[in-house]
Amino acid sequence: MKYLTEYRDASLVHTLVDEIRRTVKRNWVVMEICGGQTHAIMRYGLDQLLPPEIELVHGPGCPVCVTSLELIDKALAIASQPGVIFASYGDMLRVPGSGRDLFSVRASGGDVRVVYSPLDAIKIAQHNPDRQVVFFAIGFETTAPANAMSVVQAEALGLKNYSVLVSHVRVPPAMHAILGSPENRVQAFLAAGHVCAVMGYWEYPPIAHQYKVPIVVTGFEPVDILQGLLLSIRQLEAGRFEAENGYPRVVTFEGNRPAQDVLQRVFQECDRKWRGIGLIPASGWRLRPEYARFDAETRFSVGQIQPEESPICISGQVLQGLKKPKQCPAFGDLCTPEHPLGATMVSSEGACAAYFHYGIEAYG
Ligand code: SF4
Repeated sequence: MKYLTEYRDASLVHTLVDEIRRTVKRNWVVMEICGGQTHAIMRYGLDQLLPPEIELVHGPGCPVCVTSLELIDKALAIASQPGVIFASYGDMLRVPGSGRDLFSVRASGGDVRVVYSPLDAIKIAQHNPDRQVVFFAIGFETTAPANAMSVVQAEALGLKNYSVLVSHVRVPPAMHAILGSPENRVQAFLAAGHVCAVMGYWEYPPIAHQYKVPIVVTGFEPVDILQGLLLSIRQLEAGRFEAENGYPRVVTFEGNRPAQDVLQRVFQECDRKWRGIGLIPASGWRLRPEYARFDAETRFSVGQIQPEESPICISGQVLQGLKKPKQCPAFGDLCTPEHPLGATMVSSEGACAAYFHYGIEAYG
């Protein structure tokens, strides 16, 4: 398949690994931002091919993992209300809130539906004018434009029964939070190619220069990831700290301007809590006041939410690259994909799930 199989080519993989081995001279810690990249690394065993000087740590770029417990509990409360159809991406249904998840709400009679796009939720709202349809708008810069478009479309259609529970997060403030932490170990980032396809990478050069950290836009196939790593290691060994595009077949510096325009039209920046990490200033998007009537948080009264996280789960440290999933005492025992204690074990992009599915023997 064009644009896919050539980026899984074993001979190219080994050529890149050899070049990385020749280039690296010192120890470096590199963080891949996106959970999709984490899964590709574990699935193809790329970390096993790398020289010992390179340590990969896994970043917070898993939208399901970082959606705050408080928002999950709000979703559970709204989905439990009579007359509500709660529409969500499938991954969110098993994410544990404070004691239950959306599957258990559905088992108790709640109308919780899996959709593949917010436009599916719009159609549900059109077909059910006597019901309130709420879409769980989670994710990074990748999903936000489509979710913003759904609000624009709901307005154009005059829908009064559609709202969004917004939990959008942004990558650059998370990079600032990780690099500014006194505990930080990250010396280079592999930036998420799909985020940059939307946003470009014009936000990254100031971060690279401020913290003296290479940021390389990277794709998701084995060749892409090793190419991103090679560019990062070349910069580190040469003492360069630049934002660099290792995914030019998809990403431009400017990104997708129409998508950025719709984001600006519908959303404004806000402080946002990240699950396991805490509040990161200006790291989220919320609806602008002119679209407040589509905000599920104001449309539904869900009372005071007092979230309770599992005391065992260390996913916050995993998401900041401070610990590996295997260092969690619950990993693979008390916490498994069938019985997750934290969101990083649930999501198809979660680091704990990646270690469980692909690495439990290698890391056991
Ligand atoms: S293994 Fe489970 S409990 Fe441990 S950090 Fe991962 S999600 Fe949390």
